[in-house]
Amino acid sequence: ILLGRRLAGFIRDVPDYPRPGVQFKDITPLLADPDAFSSLVELLASMCVRRGATRIAGLEARGFLLAAPVAVRAGLGFVPVRKAGKLPGPVLARGYELEYGTATIEIQQGAFGPGDRVVVVDDVLATGGTAEAAVELIRGTGAQVAGVAVLLELGFLLGRDRLKRSLDGDRVDAA
Ligand code: IMP
Repeated sequence: ILLGRRLAGFIRDVPDYPRPGVQFKDITPLLADPDAFSSLVELLASMCVRRGATRIAGLEARGFLLAAPVAVRAGLGFVPVRKAGKLPGPVLARGYELEYGTATIEIQQGAFGPGDRVVVVDDVLATGGTAEAAVELIRGTGAQVAGVAVLLELGFLLGRDRLKRSLDGDRVDAA
C-alpha cells in the first residue's frame, strides 16, 4: 500500500481557489487513482479500528467519499453528518462559525447512542471548526467520539489544538 508521504503526491495545490489568497487542496487525483484510493481507505480504516470505533461518521460532502468505503473496510456502520435540511427528521442540529458567516450541520436522532464510539472522517482538517461542530453534535447524543481521522491536516491552521478541547486529548489521525 502507498503510505502517507506517497499519497501526498496525488493531492493538487490550487492557488486562489475558491477565493483569492486561499491555497485549495484538490483530492480528486487521489480518488481517480485506484491504488492511492484503496491505500488511503486501508490507512483510514486501520486508524478507526485502532481507536476502537463502533461507527463511522462522514462529513458532507467530500468526507462521504472517504467515510463510506472506510466504514465498509472496517466492518462498521456509516452515518452521514449533513448540511441543514438534507436529512429527513427528526434531526439534531448544531451551528458553527465559518470564515464568512455561519453554517449548520445535522444528524438523525437515534443515529448514535450511549455505548457508541464514533470516529469522524473527513478529507481535510483546516481550522477544525467543521470537525468540532460534528464532535459536539455527536457527543450530545451520549456517544463517545473516539477520534477524528482525515486524509490531510493543514497544520498551520491549528485545527488539532482546537479539537483537543472537545475531544479529551489528542485523538486526531492524519494519513
Ligand atoms: P475547517 O472547518 O476550517 O477545518 O475546514 C474543513 C472543511 O472544509 C472540511 O470539510 C473540508 O472538506 C473543507 N476544506 C477546507 N480546506 C480545504 C481544502 O484545501 N481542500 C478541500 N477541502 C477543504
